[in-house]
Amino acid sequence: MSMFSRTTRASALLSASAALCLLAACEVVSSDKSKRDTTTVAPTAGAVPSTDSSARGGVPAAPSDSLANTVARDSGVVTLSAEQPVRGGVLFALAEGLAPDIPRCSWKGAPLPCYRAAKGVLAIVPLPADEPAGTFTLTFDRPTGRVTRQITVADHDFGRELVFLDSAHYALVKRSADVARDARALRAVLAGESDTRFWSGSWGAPVKGAHGGGYGAERFYYRAVDSSRAIRLGPELKTRGTFGLDTVVAASRDVPSWRHAGVDLPASRGTSVVAPAAGLVADVGDYILTGHTVIIDHGQGVHSAYFHLDTALVQRGDRVAAGQRIGRVGATGLATGPHLHYGIYVHGKDVDPAAWAAMPAFARDQADAGKSNK
Ligand SMILES: [Zn+2]
Repeated sequence: MSMFSRTTRASALLSASAALCLLAACEVVSSDKSKRDTTTVAPTAGAVPSTDSSARGGVPAAPSDSLANTVARDSGVVTLSAEQPVRGGVLFALAEGLAPDIPRCSWKGAPLPCYRAAKGVLAIVPLPADEPAGTFTLTFDRPTGRVTRQITVADHDFGRELVFLDSAHYALVKRSADVARDARALRAVLAGESDTRFWSGSWGAPVKGAHGGGYGAERFYYRAVDSSRAIRLGPELKTRGTFGLDTVVAASRDVPSWRHAGVDLPASRGTSVVAPAAGLVADVGDYILTGHTVIIDHGQGVHSAYFHLDTALVQRGDRVAAGQRIGRVGATGLATGPHLHYGIYVHGKDVDPAAWAAMPAFARDQADAGKSNK
């Protein structure tokens, strides 16, 4: 959803800190420095500590020969990046030297898909803007115990914005049955998680030279005629879902609203959109809110999304290379002007594409053939 022509920043109605956040474009700053930590749970002979019942199971009581060899290399070190995780960001966690046949990890007490990488087991934890800050538990199962890390996710104010729509666009927001149908379809695409990782190395930009923001902002949609009256975004107004993926059209106090789960990159109509990394085209569709849409499956639970395209230049099932042209910038769907909406989803949850692109070197390494515990 474009913010370039008809959006009124609501900063005057917000606290000083929120206004500062808006001025700073609310970008999540992600450190490339990694934090190493050797804290582990003391191994228990022949058993896995069962403090976390939901992630239990599947680890042999007696390690096989190959697992026994693994133990010798398993240092118990977990390398973390970003050093200070924040809402909207991504936590990359590498359990060094760990090489089980089937990696098993958990986050917040629930199984988290994780995979064997070149130097251990890599868990990529999405910290979507829609989930609260706090301290949560990340675990890696080992043949002789479990590595446990307490992760504190800092809070972040993503800002709130008013968006004024002409009658044609406002009518789209009100097509709740169609919006819900589209959201279910997009969620199903993003739920796909293949064991193969299709990409390696750094991620590029989908539109050359374009810089944008707006990830995580709470956006409230009004009719254009409402722009002449004073609108106060009081605390009772809340978004309850994310743009394009909300199956229950969120209308807080009758104001349609969604959290913006990507970044808007300004570009003129027809500008080339390229794949930032290699992958498999998982969806090419035309949806009420997101317009002409392409979603690329990069494997192991990572997807990238491109909304409001003028034209898609790929088809579902196509393999795409990094830098390959996949579409042209447009203004289809709920967009007030040409731009690219670019989203990154990890295990089905949105993260700030800027935080994703700042991934540490250990996450860029190509993984070997690993299986997840999904
Ligand atoms: Zn957008």
